[in-house]
Amino acid sequence: MQDAISLQRLFTRNRSDDLAGTAGDARMGVDHQRMLSTLERNLDGMVFRCSIDAHWTMQYVSEGCRALTGYSGDALVGNREISYEAITHPEDRNTVREQIEAALSAGDRYRVEYRISHRDGGVRWVVERGTQVRDEHGQMVLEGFVQDITLQVAALQQQIETELRYHSIFDNSAIGIFQTSVDGHYLAANPALAKLYGYASPSELMTSLQDIGTHLYVDPKRRAEFKRRIREHGRVVAFESEVMRRDGQRIWIAENAHAVVAPDGSVLYYEGTVEDVSERRRVQAQLEYQANHDLLTGLPNRHLLDERLDHAIRIVRRHGGGVTVAFIDLDNFKLINDSLGHAAGDSLLVEVSQRLSHCLRDSDTVARYGGDEFVLILTDHGTDGETERILDRVLASIAEPLVVEEQELRVSCSIGAARYPADGDDLDTLMRHADAAMYLSKSRGKNQYSFFTGSLNTAATERLQLESSLRGALEREEFCVVLQPKVGADRRVTGFEALLRWTSEECGAVSPAKFIPIAEEIGLMPALTTFVLREACQQARTWPRTVGHASLHVAVNLSARLFQEQDIASLVRDTLQETGLDGRALELEITESMLVGDVAHTARVLADIKALGVGVAVDDFGTGYSSLAYLGRLPLDTLKIDRSFVNGCDRGGQALLIPRAVISLGHGLGMKVVAEGVENELELATLIGLGCDEFQGYLFARPMAADAVPAWLLRSQQPN
Ligand code: C2E
Ligand code: MG
Ligand code: MG
Repeated sequence: MQDAISLQRLFTRNRSDDLAGTAGDARMGVDHQRMLSTLERNLDGMVFRCSIDAHWTMQYVSEGCRALTGYSGDALVGNREISYEAITHPEDRNTVREQIEAALSAGDRYRVEYRISHRDGGVRWVVERGTQVRDEHGQMVLEGFVQDITLQVAALQQQIETELRYHSIFDNSAIGIFQTSVDGHYLAANPALAKLYGYASPSELMTSLQDIGTHLYVDPKRRAEFKRRIREHGRVVAFESEVMRRDGQRIWIAENAHAVVAPDGSVLYYEGTVEDVSERRRVQAQLEYQANHDLLTGLPNRHLLDERLDHAIRIVRRHGGGVTVAFIDLDNFKLINDSLGHAAGDSLLVEVSQRLSHCLRDSDTVARYGGDEFVLILTDHGTDGETERILDRVLASIAEPLVVEEQELRVSCSIGAARYPADGDDLDTLMRHADAAMYLSKSRGKNQYSFFTGSLNTAATERLQLESSLRGALEREEFCVVLQPKVGADRRVTGFEALLRWTSEECGAVSPAKFIPIAEEIGLMPALTTFVLREACQQARTWPRTVGHASLHVAVNLSARLFQEQDIASLVRDTLQETGLDGRALELEITESMLVGDVAHTARVLADIKALGVGVAVDDFGTGYSSLAYLGRLPLDTLKIDRSFVNGCDRGGQALLIPRAVISLGHGLGMKVVAEGVENELELATLIGLGCDEFQGYLFARPMAADAVPAWLLRSQQPN
C-alpha cells in the first residue's frame, strides 16, 4: 500500500519529468504509465485522489473500487451516484475525519481503519493510508490507497476472543496454574494457585514467593527433584510434595508440569498445574493405618508385623546382630472371656497390649497376632541377656493383677521365642518356631518363656499340626471305631476290642499312639471316650448274644487322665442306659500306670464300675510299674500280656519267661489272661501251651470296621 502511494507519486512525478523532457527512463524504453496502470489494475484495493471536503469527493479511483465498495468508479467520482463519505460507515465517519485532519495538520501521512457499507449491504473493514498533496492546479487534495482488511480483522477478533477465553479459564480454574522461571520465581500464577498457597492474589504470591525451592517446598530438595525429572522425562506427572502455605500450614500438593523450551533447546520456563491432595492423602493414610493396625488395641496387625519383621531382618543382614521373634499366648484368656463376657475380654486385651508396649524399647515391635496372641519383634543390640530381661519384664508385667469390670483378675502368658538367624531365616519359619517354643512353655506349666531348640522342630511342628487338626475333628466326624476280635483257645470269638481311628482331612490316618496323648492334653479325651463308649456299646447291642458257648463282650480303652479326673462310672452307667447294653457285655481296659498313685481312689472307681457288672482288664501288662501287691487288692478281671512279650515267645527259653510268669500270676489271682498281638500259629501254640485263655492279634483278624463284624462272625463260626 505504501508502495502504491509512492508509485502514484512516482506516476505524477514522472509525468512532469516527461514534460520536462528528461530522456533517462524513456531511453531505457520503460513505459511508466502502462506499468502503473497494470499495477493499479492488479492491486487488491483502491487507489484514489479526493478533495478535502465534506463528501470526500473522489476525483480519481482505480479499478479496485468496484471490488472494495461494490460501486463503479464512475458512480463515485464527482459523487455522481454516491459520495465516499456516504459509503463510510455512519458510526466511523467522525473518527475517520478527525484522525485524517489531525494527521494533516501535523503534516503527517495518515493511516486509519474503519468500516464501509458495501453496495451489497454488508459491512467491510478497510484500512486507508494517504497523504495530502497539491494537485496540478495547486489545490490540496488527498491521495491514497484503501484496502479491504475484513478477514484480518475477523481473525484478530477471534484471536482476542480466544485469548480472553483462555484468560477466563486461567482466572476461574479451580486448580492452580503457574509458570515459573528456571531459577525459581513465578512468571504467572492464577487466583486458584494464590488461594491454595494462602495469598490474597496472584500478584501477592508472585512478589512474596521469590524462591520456590526454599520458600515453598518443605523439603528443599524437592525443587531440584522436580527439575531433574523434567530434564529426564520432559515432564512431571502427579508429583507429590509437602509445601508450606503462607501462614505456615503444611499441605500436600500434586503437580503436573512440563518445560517450555526455546528452539535452541534451552528451558524458557516451566508451566503446569497444582492440586491440593492433602485430604486424599489423609484418607489414604487413615486407610493404610486401618489396614495395618488392630482396631481394638491399636497395635500393628499381622500384616504390619510381617513388614516390620522383614525390615528388621534386612537390617540385620546388612549390619549384623540378631532379631528375636517372641510369640505370646495368654494362658487363661478363654476362661475370662467365657465367664466375664466379650467386653471384659476386650478390656483385658487392651490392658495387656499397653503393658506389652511399656516393656519394649523404641526399636521393638509388639503386634496383635489374633485372639489372645501377641508377637514381639526384639532387635538384638548386642547386649548379653537383654532379650531375656525383656521377656522377664513381660512375664512380670502381664502377671500383675488387673481390674476389669470391678473384678480383680490375674492372667499369665506363655512365651516362645525364636531367633534370627539361628532358628530360621524367613518370617514363616521364625513364627512357626516361636510358636513351637510357646507350646513348650505351656507344656512346662505356663507363665514362662522358652527358646526354640532344634529338637523342638520336627516333633513340635508335627505335633502342632496334629493339634490344630485334632481340634474340631470330632465335629468334622473324622473319628470312627474299629473292632478287633479276641478268640479262645478253640478259636471261637469271645468278644471285640474297640479301637479308635482318626482319619484327618489334613494329616491322613493318624495312629492312636500319636494322637491320643495330644487329645489328652488338649482336653479332648472325655469327649472321645464318650464317643467310643457309645459306638462300642451300640455295636455290641447288634451282635448275637452268644456265639457258640461264649457271650460276646466289647472292650473299651480308658485313658489314664480320664480315669483319674472324670466320674467314669457315671459315664459308663449313662452310656449303658442309653444304648441298652448289659453291663456284663462291657469290659474296660485300663493301663498299669492307672493303678499306681492314689490306690484308694482307684479302688473306689473300680468298685463303682464293677457294681455296673462291667469287667476291668489291665492292658499292656508288663510294661508299666504296677505293684504286684496292689494287683491282688483291686477288683480286676483280666490281664492282657503286652504285645512285646507275645512277639517271638515261640522261640522258647528267655522269651517264654515273662508270658509264663504273667499267666501264672493272673491265674493265681483268679484273673483271665489274654495275649495281644498274636501274629502266627507258633506263637499261638506256645501261648496255648502256657495256659493263656484268650488271644487277640493279626493271626485272627485285624481291627475291622463295625459293619464288617457280622460277616466276620458268620465266617468264624464255620468249621475250618
Ligand atoms: P492297645 O489297647 O493295647 O490296643 C492294641 C493295639 O495293638 C492296637 O493298636 C491294635 O491294632 C494292635 N494290634 C492288635 N493285634 C496286633 C498284632 O497282631 N500285631 C501288631 N503289631 N499289632 C496288633 P492301635 O489300634 O494302634 O492302638 C494303639 C493303642 O492306642 C492302644 O493300645 C490303646 O492304648 C490306644 N487306644 C486305641 N483306641 C483307644 C481308645 O478308644 N481310647 C483310649 N484311651 N486309648 C485307645
Ligand atoms: Mg487295649
Ligand atoms: Mg494293649
